[in-house]
Amino acid sequence: MNGYVFDIRHFSVHDGPGIRTAVFLKGCPLRCIWCHNPESHDMLPVRINVEKGIGDKRIKLPETIGKLVSPGDVLEEVLKSRVFFEESGGGVTFTGGEPLMQPSFMIECIRLMKENDIHTTLDTSGYASPEDFGTVVKETDLVLFDLKHPDAERHLEFTGGSLETVLRNLHCDTLSEKPIIVRIPLVPGFNMSNTVYKQMAVILAKLKNLRRIDLLPYHNFSLHKYLRLGLDFKMEGIPAPDNKEVAAAADFFRNFGFIVSVGG
Ligand code: SF4
Repeated sequence: MNGYVFDIRHFSVHDGPGIRTAVFLKGCPLRCIWCHNPESHDMLPVRINVEKGIGDKRIKLPETIGKLVSPGDVLEEVLKSRVFFEESGGGVTFTGGEPLMQPSFMIECIRLMKENDIHTTLDTSGYASPEDFGTVVKETDLVLFDLKHPDAERHLEFTGGSLETVLRNLHCDTLSEKPIIVRIPLVPGFNMSNTVYKQMAVILAKLKNLRRIDLLPYHNFSLHKYLRLGLDFKMEGIPAPDNKEVAAAADFFRNFGFIVSVGG
C-alpha cells in the first residue's frame, strides 16, 4: 500500500539512537498550536507558492508539499544511509505528522525495514485508535511517545485532541512490551510549570519500559511555514523558553529519578 510522505531526511541525530533517516508522513488528527510541522497536517499533498530569487528579481514559484510513495520507494531512500546505521546503531524513524494516520502503509514500511535488518522507531502523538496503535507498535523496535499535558481540558484546548485517547495508548499492554522514550514539548503558556511537571512525573512513573524523557523546547522557526501555507500562527510573538527554564524543567524530572535529555 502506498502512503503520503512530505520529507525524508538523512543524518538525523535527534529522533532515536544513532544516526537515523527520518521519514515524515503526512496527516495529523491534532492541531497543536505550537506545531513545528504545519505542512504535515493535511494528508494530501498541498500546493503553495514559494518566493525565490532569480537574478535580482524575486518571483513566486509553485511547489508541492508531499507525495505518494510505496514502501519500496522509502526503503530505497533509507538504504542510502545504511552504512551510517551500522556504525552508529541507528536506523529509520517514522515521524510526521502522525504516522498512525496511515497504519497499513506504516506496517508495510516497518516490515520491509525489518526484512533488511534496519532498526525502526515510531514517533507518535499517541492519538490513534487502540487497534491502529497496537498493530503498528507491535511491529516497531522503539517508540517515541509525546506527552503534551496532563490535564484533559488544557490538552483539548491546545491540541484539539482528547487526553484520554493518548493515555489509554500510553498504558496499553502492547506498548508495555516495547522500549519507550517519552517526549515532552516545553511550550510557554501551556505546560511549563512545576505543577504540570509533577503531574506528568506521576503518569510516567507507571511506565515500566521508559528509557528516557526528551524535553523538546518550543521554538518559533516555523513561522515562515505558517505564512507560506496561509495559516494563522497562534504562538507568534511568544519567545522560546530560555536555557535556565529548560534546565529547571530537566532538573525537576531528574530529581524524580528519570533520565532526561534536552532536544532528543
Ligand atoms: S501531533 Fe505533532 S504534528 Fe500533529 S499537530 Fe501536534 S505537534 Fe503537529
